[in-house]
Amino acid sequence: MSEPRLVAAEISEADEAETSLRPLSLDDFVGQRDIVRNLRVFIAAARGRREALDHVLLAGPPGLGKTTLAHIISRELGVSFRATSGPVIARAGDLAALLTNLQERDVLFIDEIHRLNPAIEEVLYPAMEDFQLDLIIGEGPAARSVRIDLPHFTLIGATTRSGLLTTPLRERFGIPARLNFYDLDDLTSIVMRGGRVLNAPLGEDGGREIARRSRGSPRVAIRLLKRVRDFATVAGARSIDIATADAALQRLEVDRLGLDAMDRRYLLRIAETYGGGPVGVETLVAALAEPRDALEDIIEPFLIQQGLVQRTPRGRMLLAGAYQHLGLAPPARPPSQFDLLDAVEKAGGADE
Ligand code: ADP
Repeated sequence: MSEPRLVAAEISEADEAETSLRPLSLDDFVGQRDIVRNLRVFIAAARGRREALDHVLLAGPPGLGKTTLAHIISRELGVSFRATSGPVIARAGDLAALLTNLQERDVLFIDEIHRLNPAIEEVLYPAMEDFQLDLIIGEGPAARSVRIDLPHFTLIGATTRSGLLTTPLRERFGIPARLNFYDLDDLTSIVMRGGRVLNAPLGEDGGREIARRSRGSPRVAIRLLKRVRDFATVAGARSIDIATADAALQRLEVDRLGLDAMDRRYLLRIAETYGGGPVGVETLVAALAEPRDALEDIIEPFLIQQGLVQRTPRGRMLLAGAYQHLGLAPPARPPSQFDLLDAVEKAGGADE
């Protein structure tokens, strides 16, 4: 496995320590406007009726603010927040302990909910729907089932892979929301706000350059800002302008699209070893010695969003933009039977 990536969007301890950078209210939360607008309504309605908010499912690549939003929702509801994560809940009893400790209307946050053990999911269904827990106590002929009433709570599930969620679980969330990569203006605001919190002498153009190279993710933006600030401090730069930011980002091997060495290794491997694809994901996992989750959750979503890579039923394929970005000529490949079929279809279409 490779070194930790600077542009990796997964969480690290240093990020967690920097809680002051986390927005604490919906007003402070930049971007994802449709989600924020709807949440405001649902939260106000739940508060007005003094009811628990319906269960919320937050889906999207790592680092886009799912945990932050879950915290904000509980703050805006004025209730307590408990957090856990799918793989951590090993037994039904663990979940039962969490649920029975909640107060009326509390928020229970389950990160990586797609990684919940199926047996535990079964326990969660009646808890979400009827606020009841059915537990089997004892074993063999002496086993009996007990039913426990639970407080009305709000489950907030976060997932990087909503496609992996079972349908019964997905359907029990009344408020599903999908977070998208942030645009340049929103990321610039996040970087500029981070600069103020960190007391960094950040100029607007420097902030924008960091934002441009942050892979659409606030977590990456904040991490790059901190590293650029380090370079600027050591270089004795009085302000972080575009030149200072660019020099630091080059040293960090973050290119002008925000791709790092790992992204380029991924693209280059498909270009050079597999003739641009299609290549199956398992082959890439073996070739790059990276876990499949990391490829599918962290590396690929941004490359796909940027139009550099395409997921097809036959595997991953590089698109023209990737060759351009890598400075390579696209392969002159012999037409496959699929290309020929496409051509026949197109010719047919042109005749009509
Ligand atoms: P996720 O749970 O989706 O992996 P997090 O909620 O942990 O992402 O967010 C990652 C980091 O990015 C946090 O440190 C948070 O401060 C910051 N962040 C996320 N979304 C925003 C936003 N909309 N505005 C400002 N900062 C944000």
